[in-house]
Amino acid sequence: MHHLIAIDIGGTRFRAGLFDPEGRRLAVLEDKTSHSGGRDWMLDQLRERVDALRRETEIGACGVSFGGPVDFKSQRVTSVHTPGWRNFALAEWVENTFGLPCRVDNDANCGALGEHRFGAGRGTESMVYLTLSTGIGGGIICHGRLHRGRDGMAGEIGHIPLTHSERTCTCGLKSGCTESLASGRALDQKVREFAAHHPREAVELLKLGKAENLTARELVGAAREGDPAAETIFQEAMEWLARALLITIRLLDPDKIILGGGVAGAGDFLVQSIHQSLRNWRSPMFPDTTEIVLAELGDFAPLHGAAALAMDMVRPC
Ligand SMILES: [Zn+2]
Repeated sequence: MHHLIAIDIGGTRFRAGLFDPEGRRLAVLEDKTSHSGGRDWMLDQLRERVDALRRETEIGACGVSFGGPVDFKSQRVTSVHTPGWRNFALAEWVENTFGLPCRVDNDANCGALGEHRFGAGRGTESMVYLTLSTGIGGGIICHGRLHRGRDGMAGEIGHIPLTHSERTCTCGLKSGCTESLASGRALDQKVREFAAHHPREAVELLKLGKAENLTARELVGAAREGDPAAETIFQEAMEWLARALLITIRLLDPDKIILGGGVAGAGDFLVQSIHQSLRNWRSPMFPDTTEIVLAELGDFAPLHGAAALAMDMVRPC
């Protein structure tokens, strides 16, 4: 039985990991992503770390989680936001560089795979994984398998349009997407705007930093402490998120919805806020037994999902 290599390429950090044949994490090498370095820098870093990890170990396959859109059929990354990666044949590069069979998927799908195989989604038949960080990504497991959809874009819950908005979303639309209303970036913007325009009501928030420096972290902290202004801003955002989750529940009726990413660091407070909104839409027609839980693997979920991709190449599921 061969060991596995997993790679997670993210916007702020990258990781390379060595896993045993059962998917247990044995070693991880990680560092910060350099934006100025671009693609070639990243590939050099990965080459060095994977070579170090595989030194005396026989490796069967490599899985890669990429923090941007991936065309799963062609195994090319299609990121339009990061220069140098556009239409890059990443799996082919891994195969040529390391001589390993490779499969690449986006970070939300890998997060879903990771939580399903090794985390909070173990044993579920269907689940949805949501990464709530700067943006909002999602991955769907149906009948125990990842559902990628026709264009590999299934699960993009962050880009369900919920209302009219003047704000342009990262997808290019002014369509009030979930991401533009409830992501970490959206919470940053909301708390900064509120503190700048309503300094009297934001007096507690402004004790935590200047208006332009406030982030979702301060907002959640103040809301948790019972500051009414922070509570209102956070609860409004969570109501939009709850709407998107309700659409997901009506559509898929999954066993679990698993929340990961930086905003999920708000923990039980986040889950309670979502339930508070969902209670407004309870209907006697629907049992609504879908569990909403926090991710178990934290920000390691995509790396573990990449290991699952590799595992399935060696031992098809
Ligand atoms: Zn959008």
